[in-house]
Amino acid sequence: MQLRYAFRVYPSAGQRSSLARSFGCARVVFNDALRVREDARAAGLPFVTSAELSKRLTASKKTPGRAWLGEVSSVILQQSLRDLDTAYRNFFDGIRGKRPKAGPPRFKSRRDSRQAIRFTANAGWRITDGGKLRLPKIGDVRVKWSRALPSVPSTVTVVQDAAGRYFASFVVETDPAADRERMPAADATVGIDLGLAHFAVLSDGTKIDSPKFLRRAEKKLKKAQRVLSRKVKGSKNRDKARVGVARAHARVADARREFHHRLSTRLIRENQAVAVEDLAVKGLARTRLAKSVHDAGWSAFVTMLEYKAVRYGRAFHRTGRFEPTSQVCSDCGVKDGPKPLGVREWTCGACGAVLDRDVNAAVNVAKAAGLAVSACGAQVRPVFVPAQRGEAGTHPKPYRATVRQTGITRL
Ligand SMILES: [Zn+2]
Repeated sequence: MQLRYAFRVYPSAGQRSSLARSFGCARVVFNDALRVREDARAAGLPFVTSAELSKRLTASKKTPGRAWLGEVSSVILQQSLRDLDTAYRNFFDGIRGKRPKAGPPRFKSRRDSRQAIRFTANAGWRITDGGKLRLPKIGDVRVKWSRALPSVPSTVTVVQDAAGRYFASFVVETDPAADRERMPAADATVGIDLGLAHFAVLSDGTKIDSPKFLRRAEKKLKKAQRVLSRKVKGSKNRDKARVGVARAHARVADARREFHHRLSTRLIRENQAVAVEDLAVKGLARTRLAKSVHDAGWSAFVTMLEYKAVRYGRAFHRTGRFEPTSQVCSDCGVKDGPKPLGVREWTCGACGAVLDRDVNAAVNVAKAAGLAVSACGAQVRPVFVPAQRGEAGTHPKPYRATVRQTGITRL
C-alpha cells in the first residue's frame, strides 16, 4: 500500500527564494498548458495530448519569454503537466459518473493557499547522510524527522501552506509483514455512530468527545478571527491578523488530524471488524447542521479508518442510511418508531431494555453490517474515555493513502 509521510522542513532564506521560484515555474507551466488546451477546445480542435504539451514545454524554454524555466529542475515542470492531466481525468471521470463530480481544471495563482512542487526518483533528489533533504537546484534543506520512514520513498512533494510553513511529503510503500507484526489480529468487533453530541459513540458504550487540545486550538482560531474582523481593510495590521488566522487554521487542522489518527489507530488496533454508518454528509450539509458536520470532519476520519483497515487486514463495513438506527431496539429488534432528537434515552416497549440513543445507534450499525456485538452495550451509562496516545504525532498529512487522490490541489 502506498502512503504519504509528511515532515516539516526549514529552508534557509536562499532556499526559500529558490522554492518560490520553483513554485512559480511549476505554476506557469501548468497555466500555459491549461491555456493551450482551453484555446484548442474553444477553437473546436481536438484535445491536446500530454506528449504535445511536453514538446511545447521544451520548445518554450528556448524562447526569451520563458528561458527562466531552465533555472529550476525540469522534473517539477514535467510533474506539473502530470497534475494537469490528473485534473482533467478527474473532471472527465466526474462527468462520466466514475467518481464524484469535480470542477474543470482552473488556473493556479500565486495567491493560492497551497503551493507545491513534486520530485520523482529520476529528479535526483535524496536524503543525505546528515539527514537533510537534497533537492536539485534548491540545496540541502533541514528536515524535522518526527518519525522513521518505513521504506525508501520514491517521490517527494514540497509544500508551502497558507500559514507559510514548508513540508516535505514522501510517498512510501508499506511492508505488509511489518504491518502484521505491528498490529496482530484482534478478536473484538465494533459499530461506530458518529454524532453531534459526541464525536463518536461505540457499540460497547464508549462515548468519545474531541480532545482538549483540539478544542483549545478551535478557541484560539475564533479569537484570531475576531481580531481580524476588527482591523481596518487594507491596513498593515490587517495583513498581520490575516496571517494569524491562517496559522490558527493550520493548527486546528493539525490538531483535528492528530485526533483522527489516534482514534482510528486505536479502533483498528482493538477490533478485527469495524462498521460505520454511511455518512451521506452531502445531504446533511444542506441543513442547518452544515457547520457542525464540516467541523466534525467525519469523512476525513472515516477515510482514515478505511485505509488503516485495509493496511492492517481488518474488515471495514459501511452501512446504508436506510437503516433507521434510532427507531429500532438494538436488543430485541422491534421497530417502535421515530423519536425526537431531544430524547436521549428510552425504554423499549417490547423487551423493557433501557436504551441510550447514541449507543443504540452504534449497536444497530454493527448489526446492520452483520457484526456480532453485545447489545447490552446499548444500556451502559455514558463513560468518557480520552483517545489514547497513538502513532499520529503532529505531522500535517501523515498516512494519507495516495489511492484516494481527489481534486487538483491535492498531489
Ligand atoms: Zn427491545
